[in-house]
Amino acid sequence: MKDKIQEFKECIKEKKYLLASIEVLQWELETLAPKKGQDYLSEVLAYMSMKDYELSTSDKFQNLVRDLLQEKESLELILQKEVEQAAEEMEKMKKIPAEEYRAYAELCAKNQGIWEEAKQNNNFQLVEENLTKIFEYNRKFARYLQKEEKNLYDVLLRDYEKGMTCEKLDVFFASLKKEIVPLLHKIQKKKKQSFPFLTSPISKEKQKEFCHLLAEYLGFDFERGILAESEHPFTLNINKKDVRITTKYVEALPFSSIFSTIHETGHAIYEQQIGDELVSTLLGSGGSMGLHESQSRFWENIIGRSFEFWKELYSSLQTHFTSLKTIPLEEFYQAINQVEASLIRTEADELTYCLHIMLRYELEKEIIEGTLSVKDLPKAWNEKIEEYLGITVPNATEGVLQDVHWYAGLIGYFPSYALGNAYASQLFHTMKQELSLNDYSQDKLQEVRLWLGENIHQYGMMKTTSELIREITGEDLNPDYYIEYLKNKYEALYQ
Ligand SMILES: [Zn+2]
Repeated sequence: MKDKIQEFKECIKEKKYLLASIEVLQWELETLAPKKGQDYLSEVLAYMSMKDYELSTSDKFQNLVRDLLQEKESLELILQKEVEQAAEEMEKMKKIPAEEYRAYAELCAKNQGIWEEAKQNNNFQLVEENLTKIFEYNRKFARYLQKEEKNLYDVLLRDYEKGMTCEKLDVFFASLKKEIVPLLHKIQKKKKQSFPFLTSPISKEKQKEFCHLLAEYLGFDFERGILAESEHPFTLNINKKDVRITTKYVEALPFSSIFSTIHETGHAIYEQQIGDELVSTLLGSGGSMGLHESQSRFWENIIGRSFEFWKELYSSLQTHFTSLKTIPLEEFYQAINQVEASLIRTEADELTYCLHIMLRYELEKEIIEGTLSVKDLPKAWNEKIEEYLGITVPNATEGVLQDVHWYAGLIGYFPSYALGNAYASQLFHTMKQELSLNDYSQDKLQEVRLWLGENIHQYGMMKTTSELIREITGEDLNPDYYIEYLKNKYEALYQ
């Protein structure tokens, strides 16, 4: 037994080396690699991924996992969870025929370029056939992997949010819809204010200076992380000692870099606070997609778009962003929380954001259930935008083609974004009872960070999201906290 544990640990070590080199290559590709060097690095990356696949599917590794799983009661807790995690991945690999999986991976990789072209040319037909195939594959894979789940969509959800089901999501979105849509319509009737300073250009250097200061203020540890630039902001972690984030500086949209820096810093703080004992295991990074998003959105929205936060930092922002010199803090606060029904999800405000997610959830679920065909997707999309947001979609580029997710094979992924918001509000509700949060000074934010570390971050993947939410807040996911947060905030902003 002892030997087997040792051998298993050796395999994990090797797997972690491979994964770390994949991460580094990924980082290079997204940030610094020259255009003409990218093909070769992509090739190396594919090679390393194959090595990882070979290791995970090798007889040696599979036998070890199987043997240890049989003895799991006698293993120490971390190892037990790690073996379970490995067994789960193994089972998935075994149930999907390798040939089909390879064909699907190729289809998705190839389709991203086609999607880009379709989006650029406002031509959904270009991707219709491939998208139909992608949905077909997902239905097929879900059928292979279906266990006790009632329907196929639940199986797809498992990849991103274990334990989540359509049944729960339907209730969740129905209560959001009931409260948020009327509130939005009420706000839309009010006279719209304009804030020209939101788009007055700020040099990249000034933005960069401020974003670094901001990440530091929030508690990002620069000795164990870096902040760089990329086309799409993201967080990447090699382990808790090397957590990397990016942002994008657009001179004419200076606040975009600020909020994406806060968002990614939220993801990074999660990774930087993982328990030391998990670093060399398979469990050494954040939990489910929804939980990770709850952390980034907590910092971005609940903290980063609050009046108290900017009370601390506004004068510093004004020295970097000279366009704000004559703008009072109150007006700035209104501006960064302006509600406007818009076409693009990633630019949506806090209030309309969940409606964008809800419509994607409803549509992808219908396709998986077989009640909507991919051919009719654009029309269904436009109708829902009209119904929820009261605006008309002028073209597919700003409609059904805007997000890469479906075209890259990510079906069942969108709900995590809305769940993240809801978890964040529910956690915040409990946090407020335990910490006195009257200001967001640097010391106070440290308390917040420690609270999150102790309650969530240290556990890495040791506990499921639903376990954590129940332990911390005393109940399961409850959308009421999110609805209450939105209502309180926006009713006060739009009196
Ligand atoms: Zn995120």
